Amino acid sequence: MNGYGGSILRVNLSTGKIQKSPTSPELARDFIGGRGFGAYLLFTEVPRNADPLGPENKLILSSGPLSGLLIPGAGKMDFTTKSPLTGGYASSSLGGMLTAELKYAGIDSIILEGISPHPVCLLIEDDRIQLLDATEYWGQGTISVEKSIKDKYGEDYQVAVIGPGGENLVPFASINHDYGRQAGRGGVGAVMGSKKLKAIAVHGTKAIPVADTQGYQKAGLELFKACKQAEGLAAWQRYGTTIVTSWCDEVGALPTRNFISGHFSEGKELYGPVMREKIVITDKGCFGCPSPCGKYSRSKKYQSNVEGPEYETIGMLGSNVGISDIEDVAEANRLCDDLGIDTISTGGVIGWAMECYQKEIFTSSDTDGLLLDFGNTKAVFELIHKIAYRKGIGKLLSQGVKKASEITGKGSENFAIHVKGMEQSAYATHNATAMLLAYMTCDVGAHHNRSWAITYDLQVGRDLIVPEKVARIIWLQNFRPMFDVLGSCRLQWVELSIERDLYVPALEAITGIHRTWEDLEKVGEMIWNLTRLFWIRENSGFNRTWDLPSPRFYTEPPADGPTEGQITKYEDVQKLMDMYYDQRGWDSNGIPKNETLKKLDLESFGVTSWS
Ligand code: SF4
Repeated sequence: MNGYGGSILRVNLSTGKIQKSPTSPELARDFIGGRGFGAYLLFTEVPRNADPLGPENKLILSSGPLSGLLIPGAGKMDFTTKSPLTGGYASSSLGGMLTAELKYAGIDSIILEGISPHPVCLLIEDDRIQLLDATEYWGQGTISVEKSIKDKYGEDYQVAVIGPGGENLVPFASINHDYGRQAGRGGVGAVMGSKKLKAIAVHGTKAIPVADTQGYQKAGLELFKACKQAEGLAAWQRYGTTIVTSWCDEVGALPTRNFISGHFSEGKELYGPVMREKIVITDKGCFGCPSPCGKYSRSKKYQSNVEGPEYETIGMLGSNVGISDIEDVAEANRLCDDLGIDTISTGGVIGWAMECYQKEIFTSSDTDGLLLDFGNTKAVFELIHKIAYRKGIGKLLSQGVKKASEITGKGSENFAIHVKGMEQSAYATHNATAMLLAYMTCDVGAHHNRSWAITYDLQVGRDLIVPEKVARIIWLQNFRPMFDVLGSCRLQWVELSIERDLYVPALEAITGIHRTWEDLEKVGEMIWNLTRLFWIRENSGFNRTWDLPSPRFYTEPPADGPTEGQITKYEDVQKLMDMYYDQRGWDSNGIPKNETLKKLDLESFGVTSWS
């Protein structure tokens, strides 16, 4: 099959059985790859009500048809599972080199199921695939384990690894790769930990077949040329995602002290140029990337190195917890990476704990004696450890902000910043109705990358609530995640304004199938509805209240900054939901109507049994 490795690898950790089967041409035709494969396999293979950390849940790694080929940023891999954080659909994307190596081993997806009786490592060397004892690595941080595996097998091996967070089943544990890249969201690392799988190491040497070699080279070259000629390349490469830190602060979108505000008065020390000057030592990119956004940093203060921090981490482990020194943020980033926990959720739950302390819901007797004042860097470092090892107050915080606030009560639920149990990433959404709706309806919980709409709010009017704005969110949700289906990075389109139509001849030359973006958007819409059905199937009583944002965004206007005094009214939140459901073809509880499933041809995949 052109554009594909050609096989799906199934590993049963309980029995040790390893099986390879050919990638189904129908699966490739209908779901294309990456996130599409993951969504279909999750829905059809994981039984209803499976325990996310039990043997029946599966962790599905998938590359796409562009992965591993010479297309800008074609190094994206999707990790799909039932989330231990939210109980719904989780899909987290990882950059780096892993997906390319997997394709070179002739594999499109790995389905991990069951639970191993002891810690293991999955070693893939083309067709030689083994489960090896990994007891010696259990308990170690991600960085040392990745290094040990590379030292033992060679630098050609690409490694995905969990840290103590994943081993201890922290529901927002990450899977790490390439010493600084993470599949961070939704607890994919906890699912890997529940299976006692410490690491996956892959090396492949096979060629990926393409339908039209000359056409592929020509179309690939056009894409690279467009990236190299892009006006925004120099600034993007210099600052990466930190290019938006100052902008977010200026427009009131920088999460500050648990999202009480969108402006951090001490924020200037966190801005991209300060970070570049102070700690960045080199740039780092994923496979085939002409515009590397990764920044590798050295902190003199802590005598340590880290890849990052990128914007989301600066927002969540900087301003959101009141830290204003970029070196402190870099060190918090390093700790999370090594311990294998998501920086966004970690910053979210620590911000919430600090507000509990400020409001005297927590006293030092609840916090193991820690003074959880905003800006207390030492306390942040301590909490990161406690969360990863689930010790002391870390036992509570490691459950995520939704569960922690439900246990704590005393009104703390009102400032637990999440949607569907996933901590909101680093955009404060006071009076930013497009971004608010994007978070409310995101398919994994409050994550930004499906529909990054904060700039659109500024462009058309942040309080505007009109059908066109809702339509824009839906279009982004159908379109942007298709990059995770194809297996390439979306940031060349987002940040360098590369014409998306340049991908069409590349995809056709690689797969031999002509697909326009309109065709791809239809697949995106189908996947969006399928994953919605997964949420509904797995959570009895699912209804529109699940899509509500944190009350903070409709009850508490910020007291300072550019959004001072501004919020979206509750009735407008409801109005946004009504418009969204209507345009999606869902009923008033946000459940896809039968006619919508019919229109998307989802019934033909046997996915109507959710009701
Ligand atoms: Fe990776 Fe950044 Fe390049 Fe995208 S832009 S491929 S995330 S380095």
